[in-house]
Amino acid sequence: MRKNIVAGNWKMNNDLAQTETLITELQNQSKTSNAEVMIAPAFTNLWHAFQSLRQDDVEVVAQNMHFAEHGAYTGEVSVSMLKSIGVQTVILGHSERRAYFNETDETLAKKVDTALLNEMRVIFCFGEELADRKSNNHEAVVEGQIKNALFHLEADAFENIVLAYEPVWAIGTGETASPEQAQDMHAFIRKTLADKYGNTVADSVSILYGGSVKPANAKEIFGKPDVDGGLIGGAALNAEDFYAIVNAF
Ligand code: PEP
Repeated sequence: MRKNIVAGNWKMNNDLAQTETLITELQNQSKTSNAEVMIAPAFTNLWHAFQSLRQDDVEVVAQNMHFAEHGAYTGEVSVSMLKSIGVQTVILGHSERRAYFNETDETLAKKVDTALLNEMRVIFCFGEELADRKSNNHEAVVEGQIKNALFHLEADAFENIVLAYEPVWAIGTGETASPEQAQDMHAFIRKTLADKYGNTVADSVSILYGGSVKPANAKEIFGKPDVDGGLIGGAALNAEDFYAIVNAF
């Protein structure tokens, strides 16, 4: 079922005390929209966040995981480790993972497989660079990222996949895709899914937009028919701003 979702990616911000503070501030906000709310703290704070938010309407999700189930991968975290502390959703393929940690479509396909095999929901991120958009190549790039990492899956796998279109040039830059640019790309993504899996699958997948979403622009972006929510970076670190975005639906 296609849902409205607002997910806050905290990235490498907030130690334990700051996590406690921000969670308390989030708990003091009220939700007036139907959006599912998620936050993605750092690995070290997931357990604490999960315990603190047990009674709340906020899902705690992970920012990444390894594709191997276990083994000699120093510094990495596995799907079963995440599941054992209650995490049920993982963000995969964020542009910062692709850019700074060399994650490729190939490794992401493996991560997606491991997550789905273990009944972990995936928020799969992708998006073009500025040069791709300037050369009018953005649709081809996005299509390639989706096909390479996801199109080996059976249709029913998409029940556990949320897509997050995040143009790299709009992440953390203050530069937002216009609502029309977001809508055009989201419609293209849905058509790409429909061509491969049919309209039923395409219409049931939530497609989030990410890239400098703020309280001031969320309503217009979320108002577009193929935009089902947002993946929020900077503004997710402020409880009032985050809930203003959640309540923009
Ligand atoms: C992100 O990192 O996914 C993101 C969208 O960041 P920001 O909202 O800060 O652009």
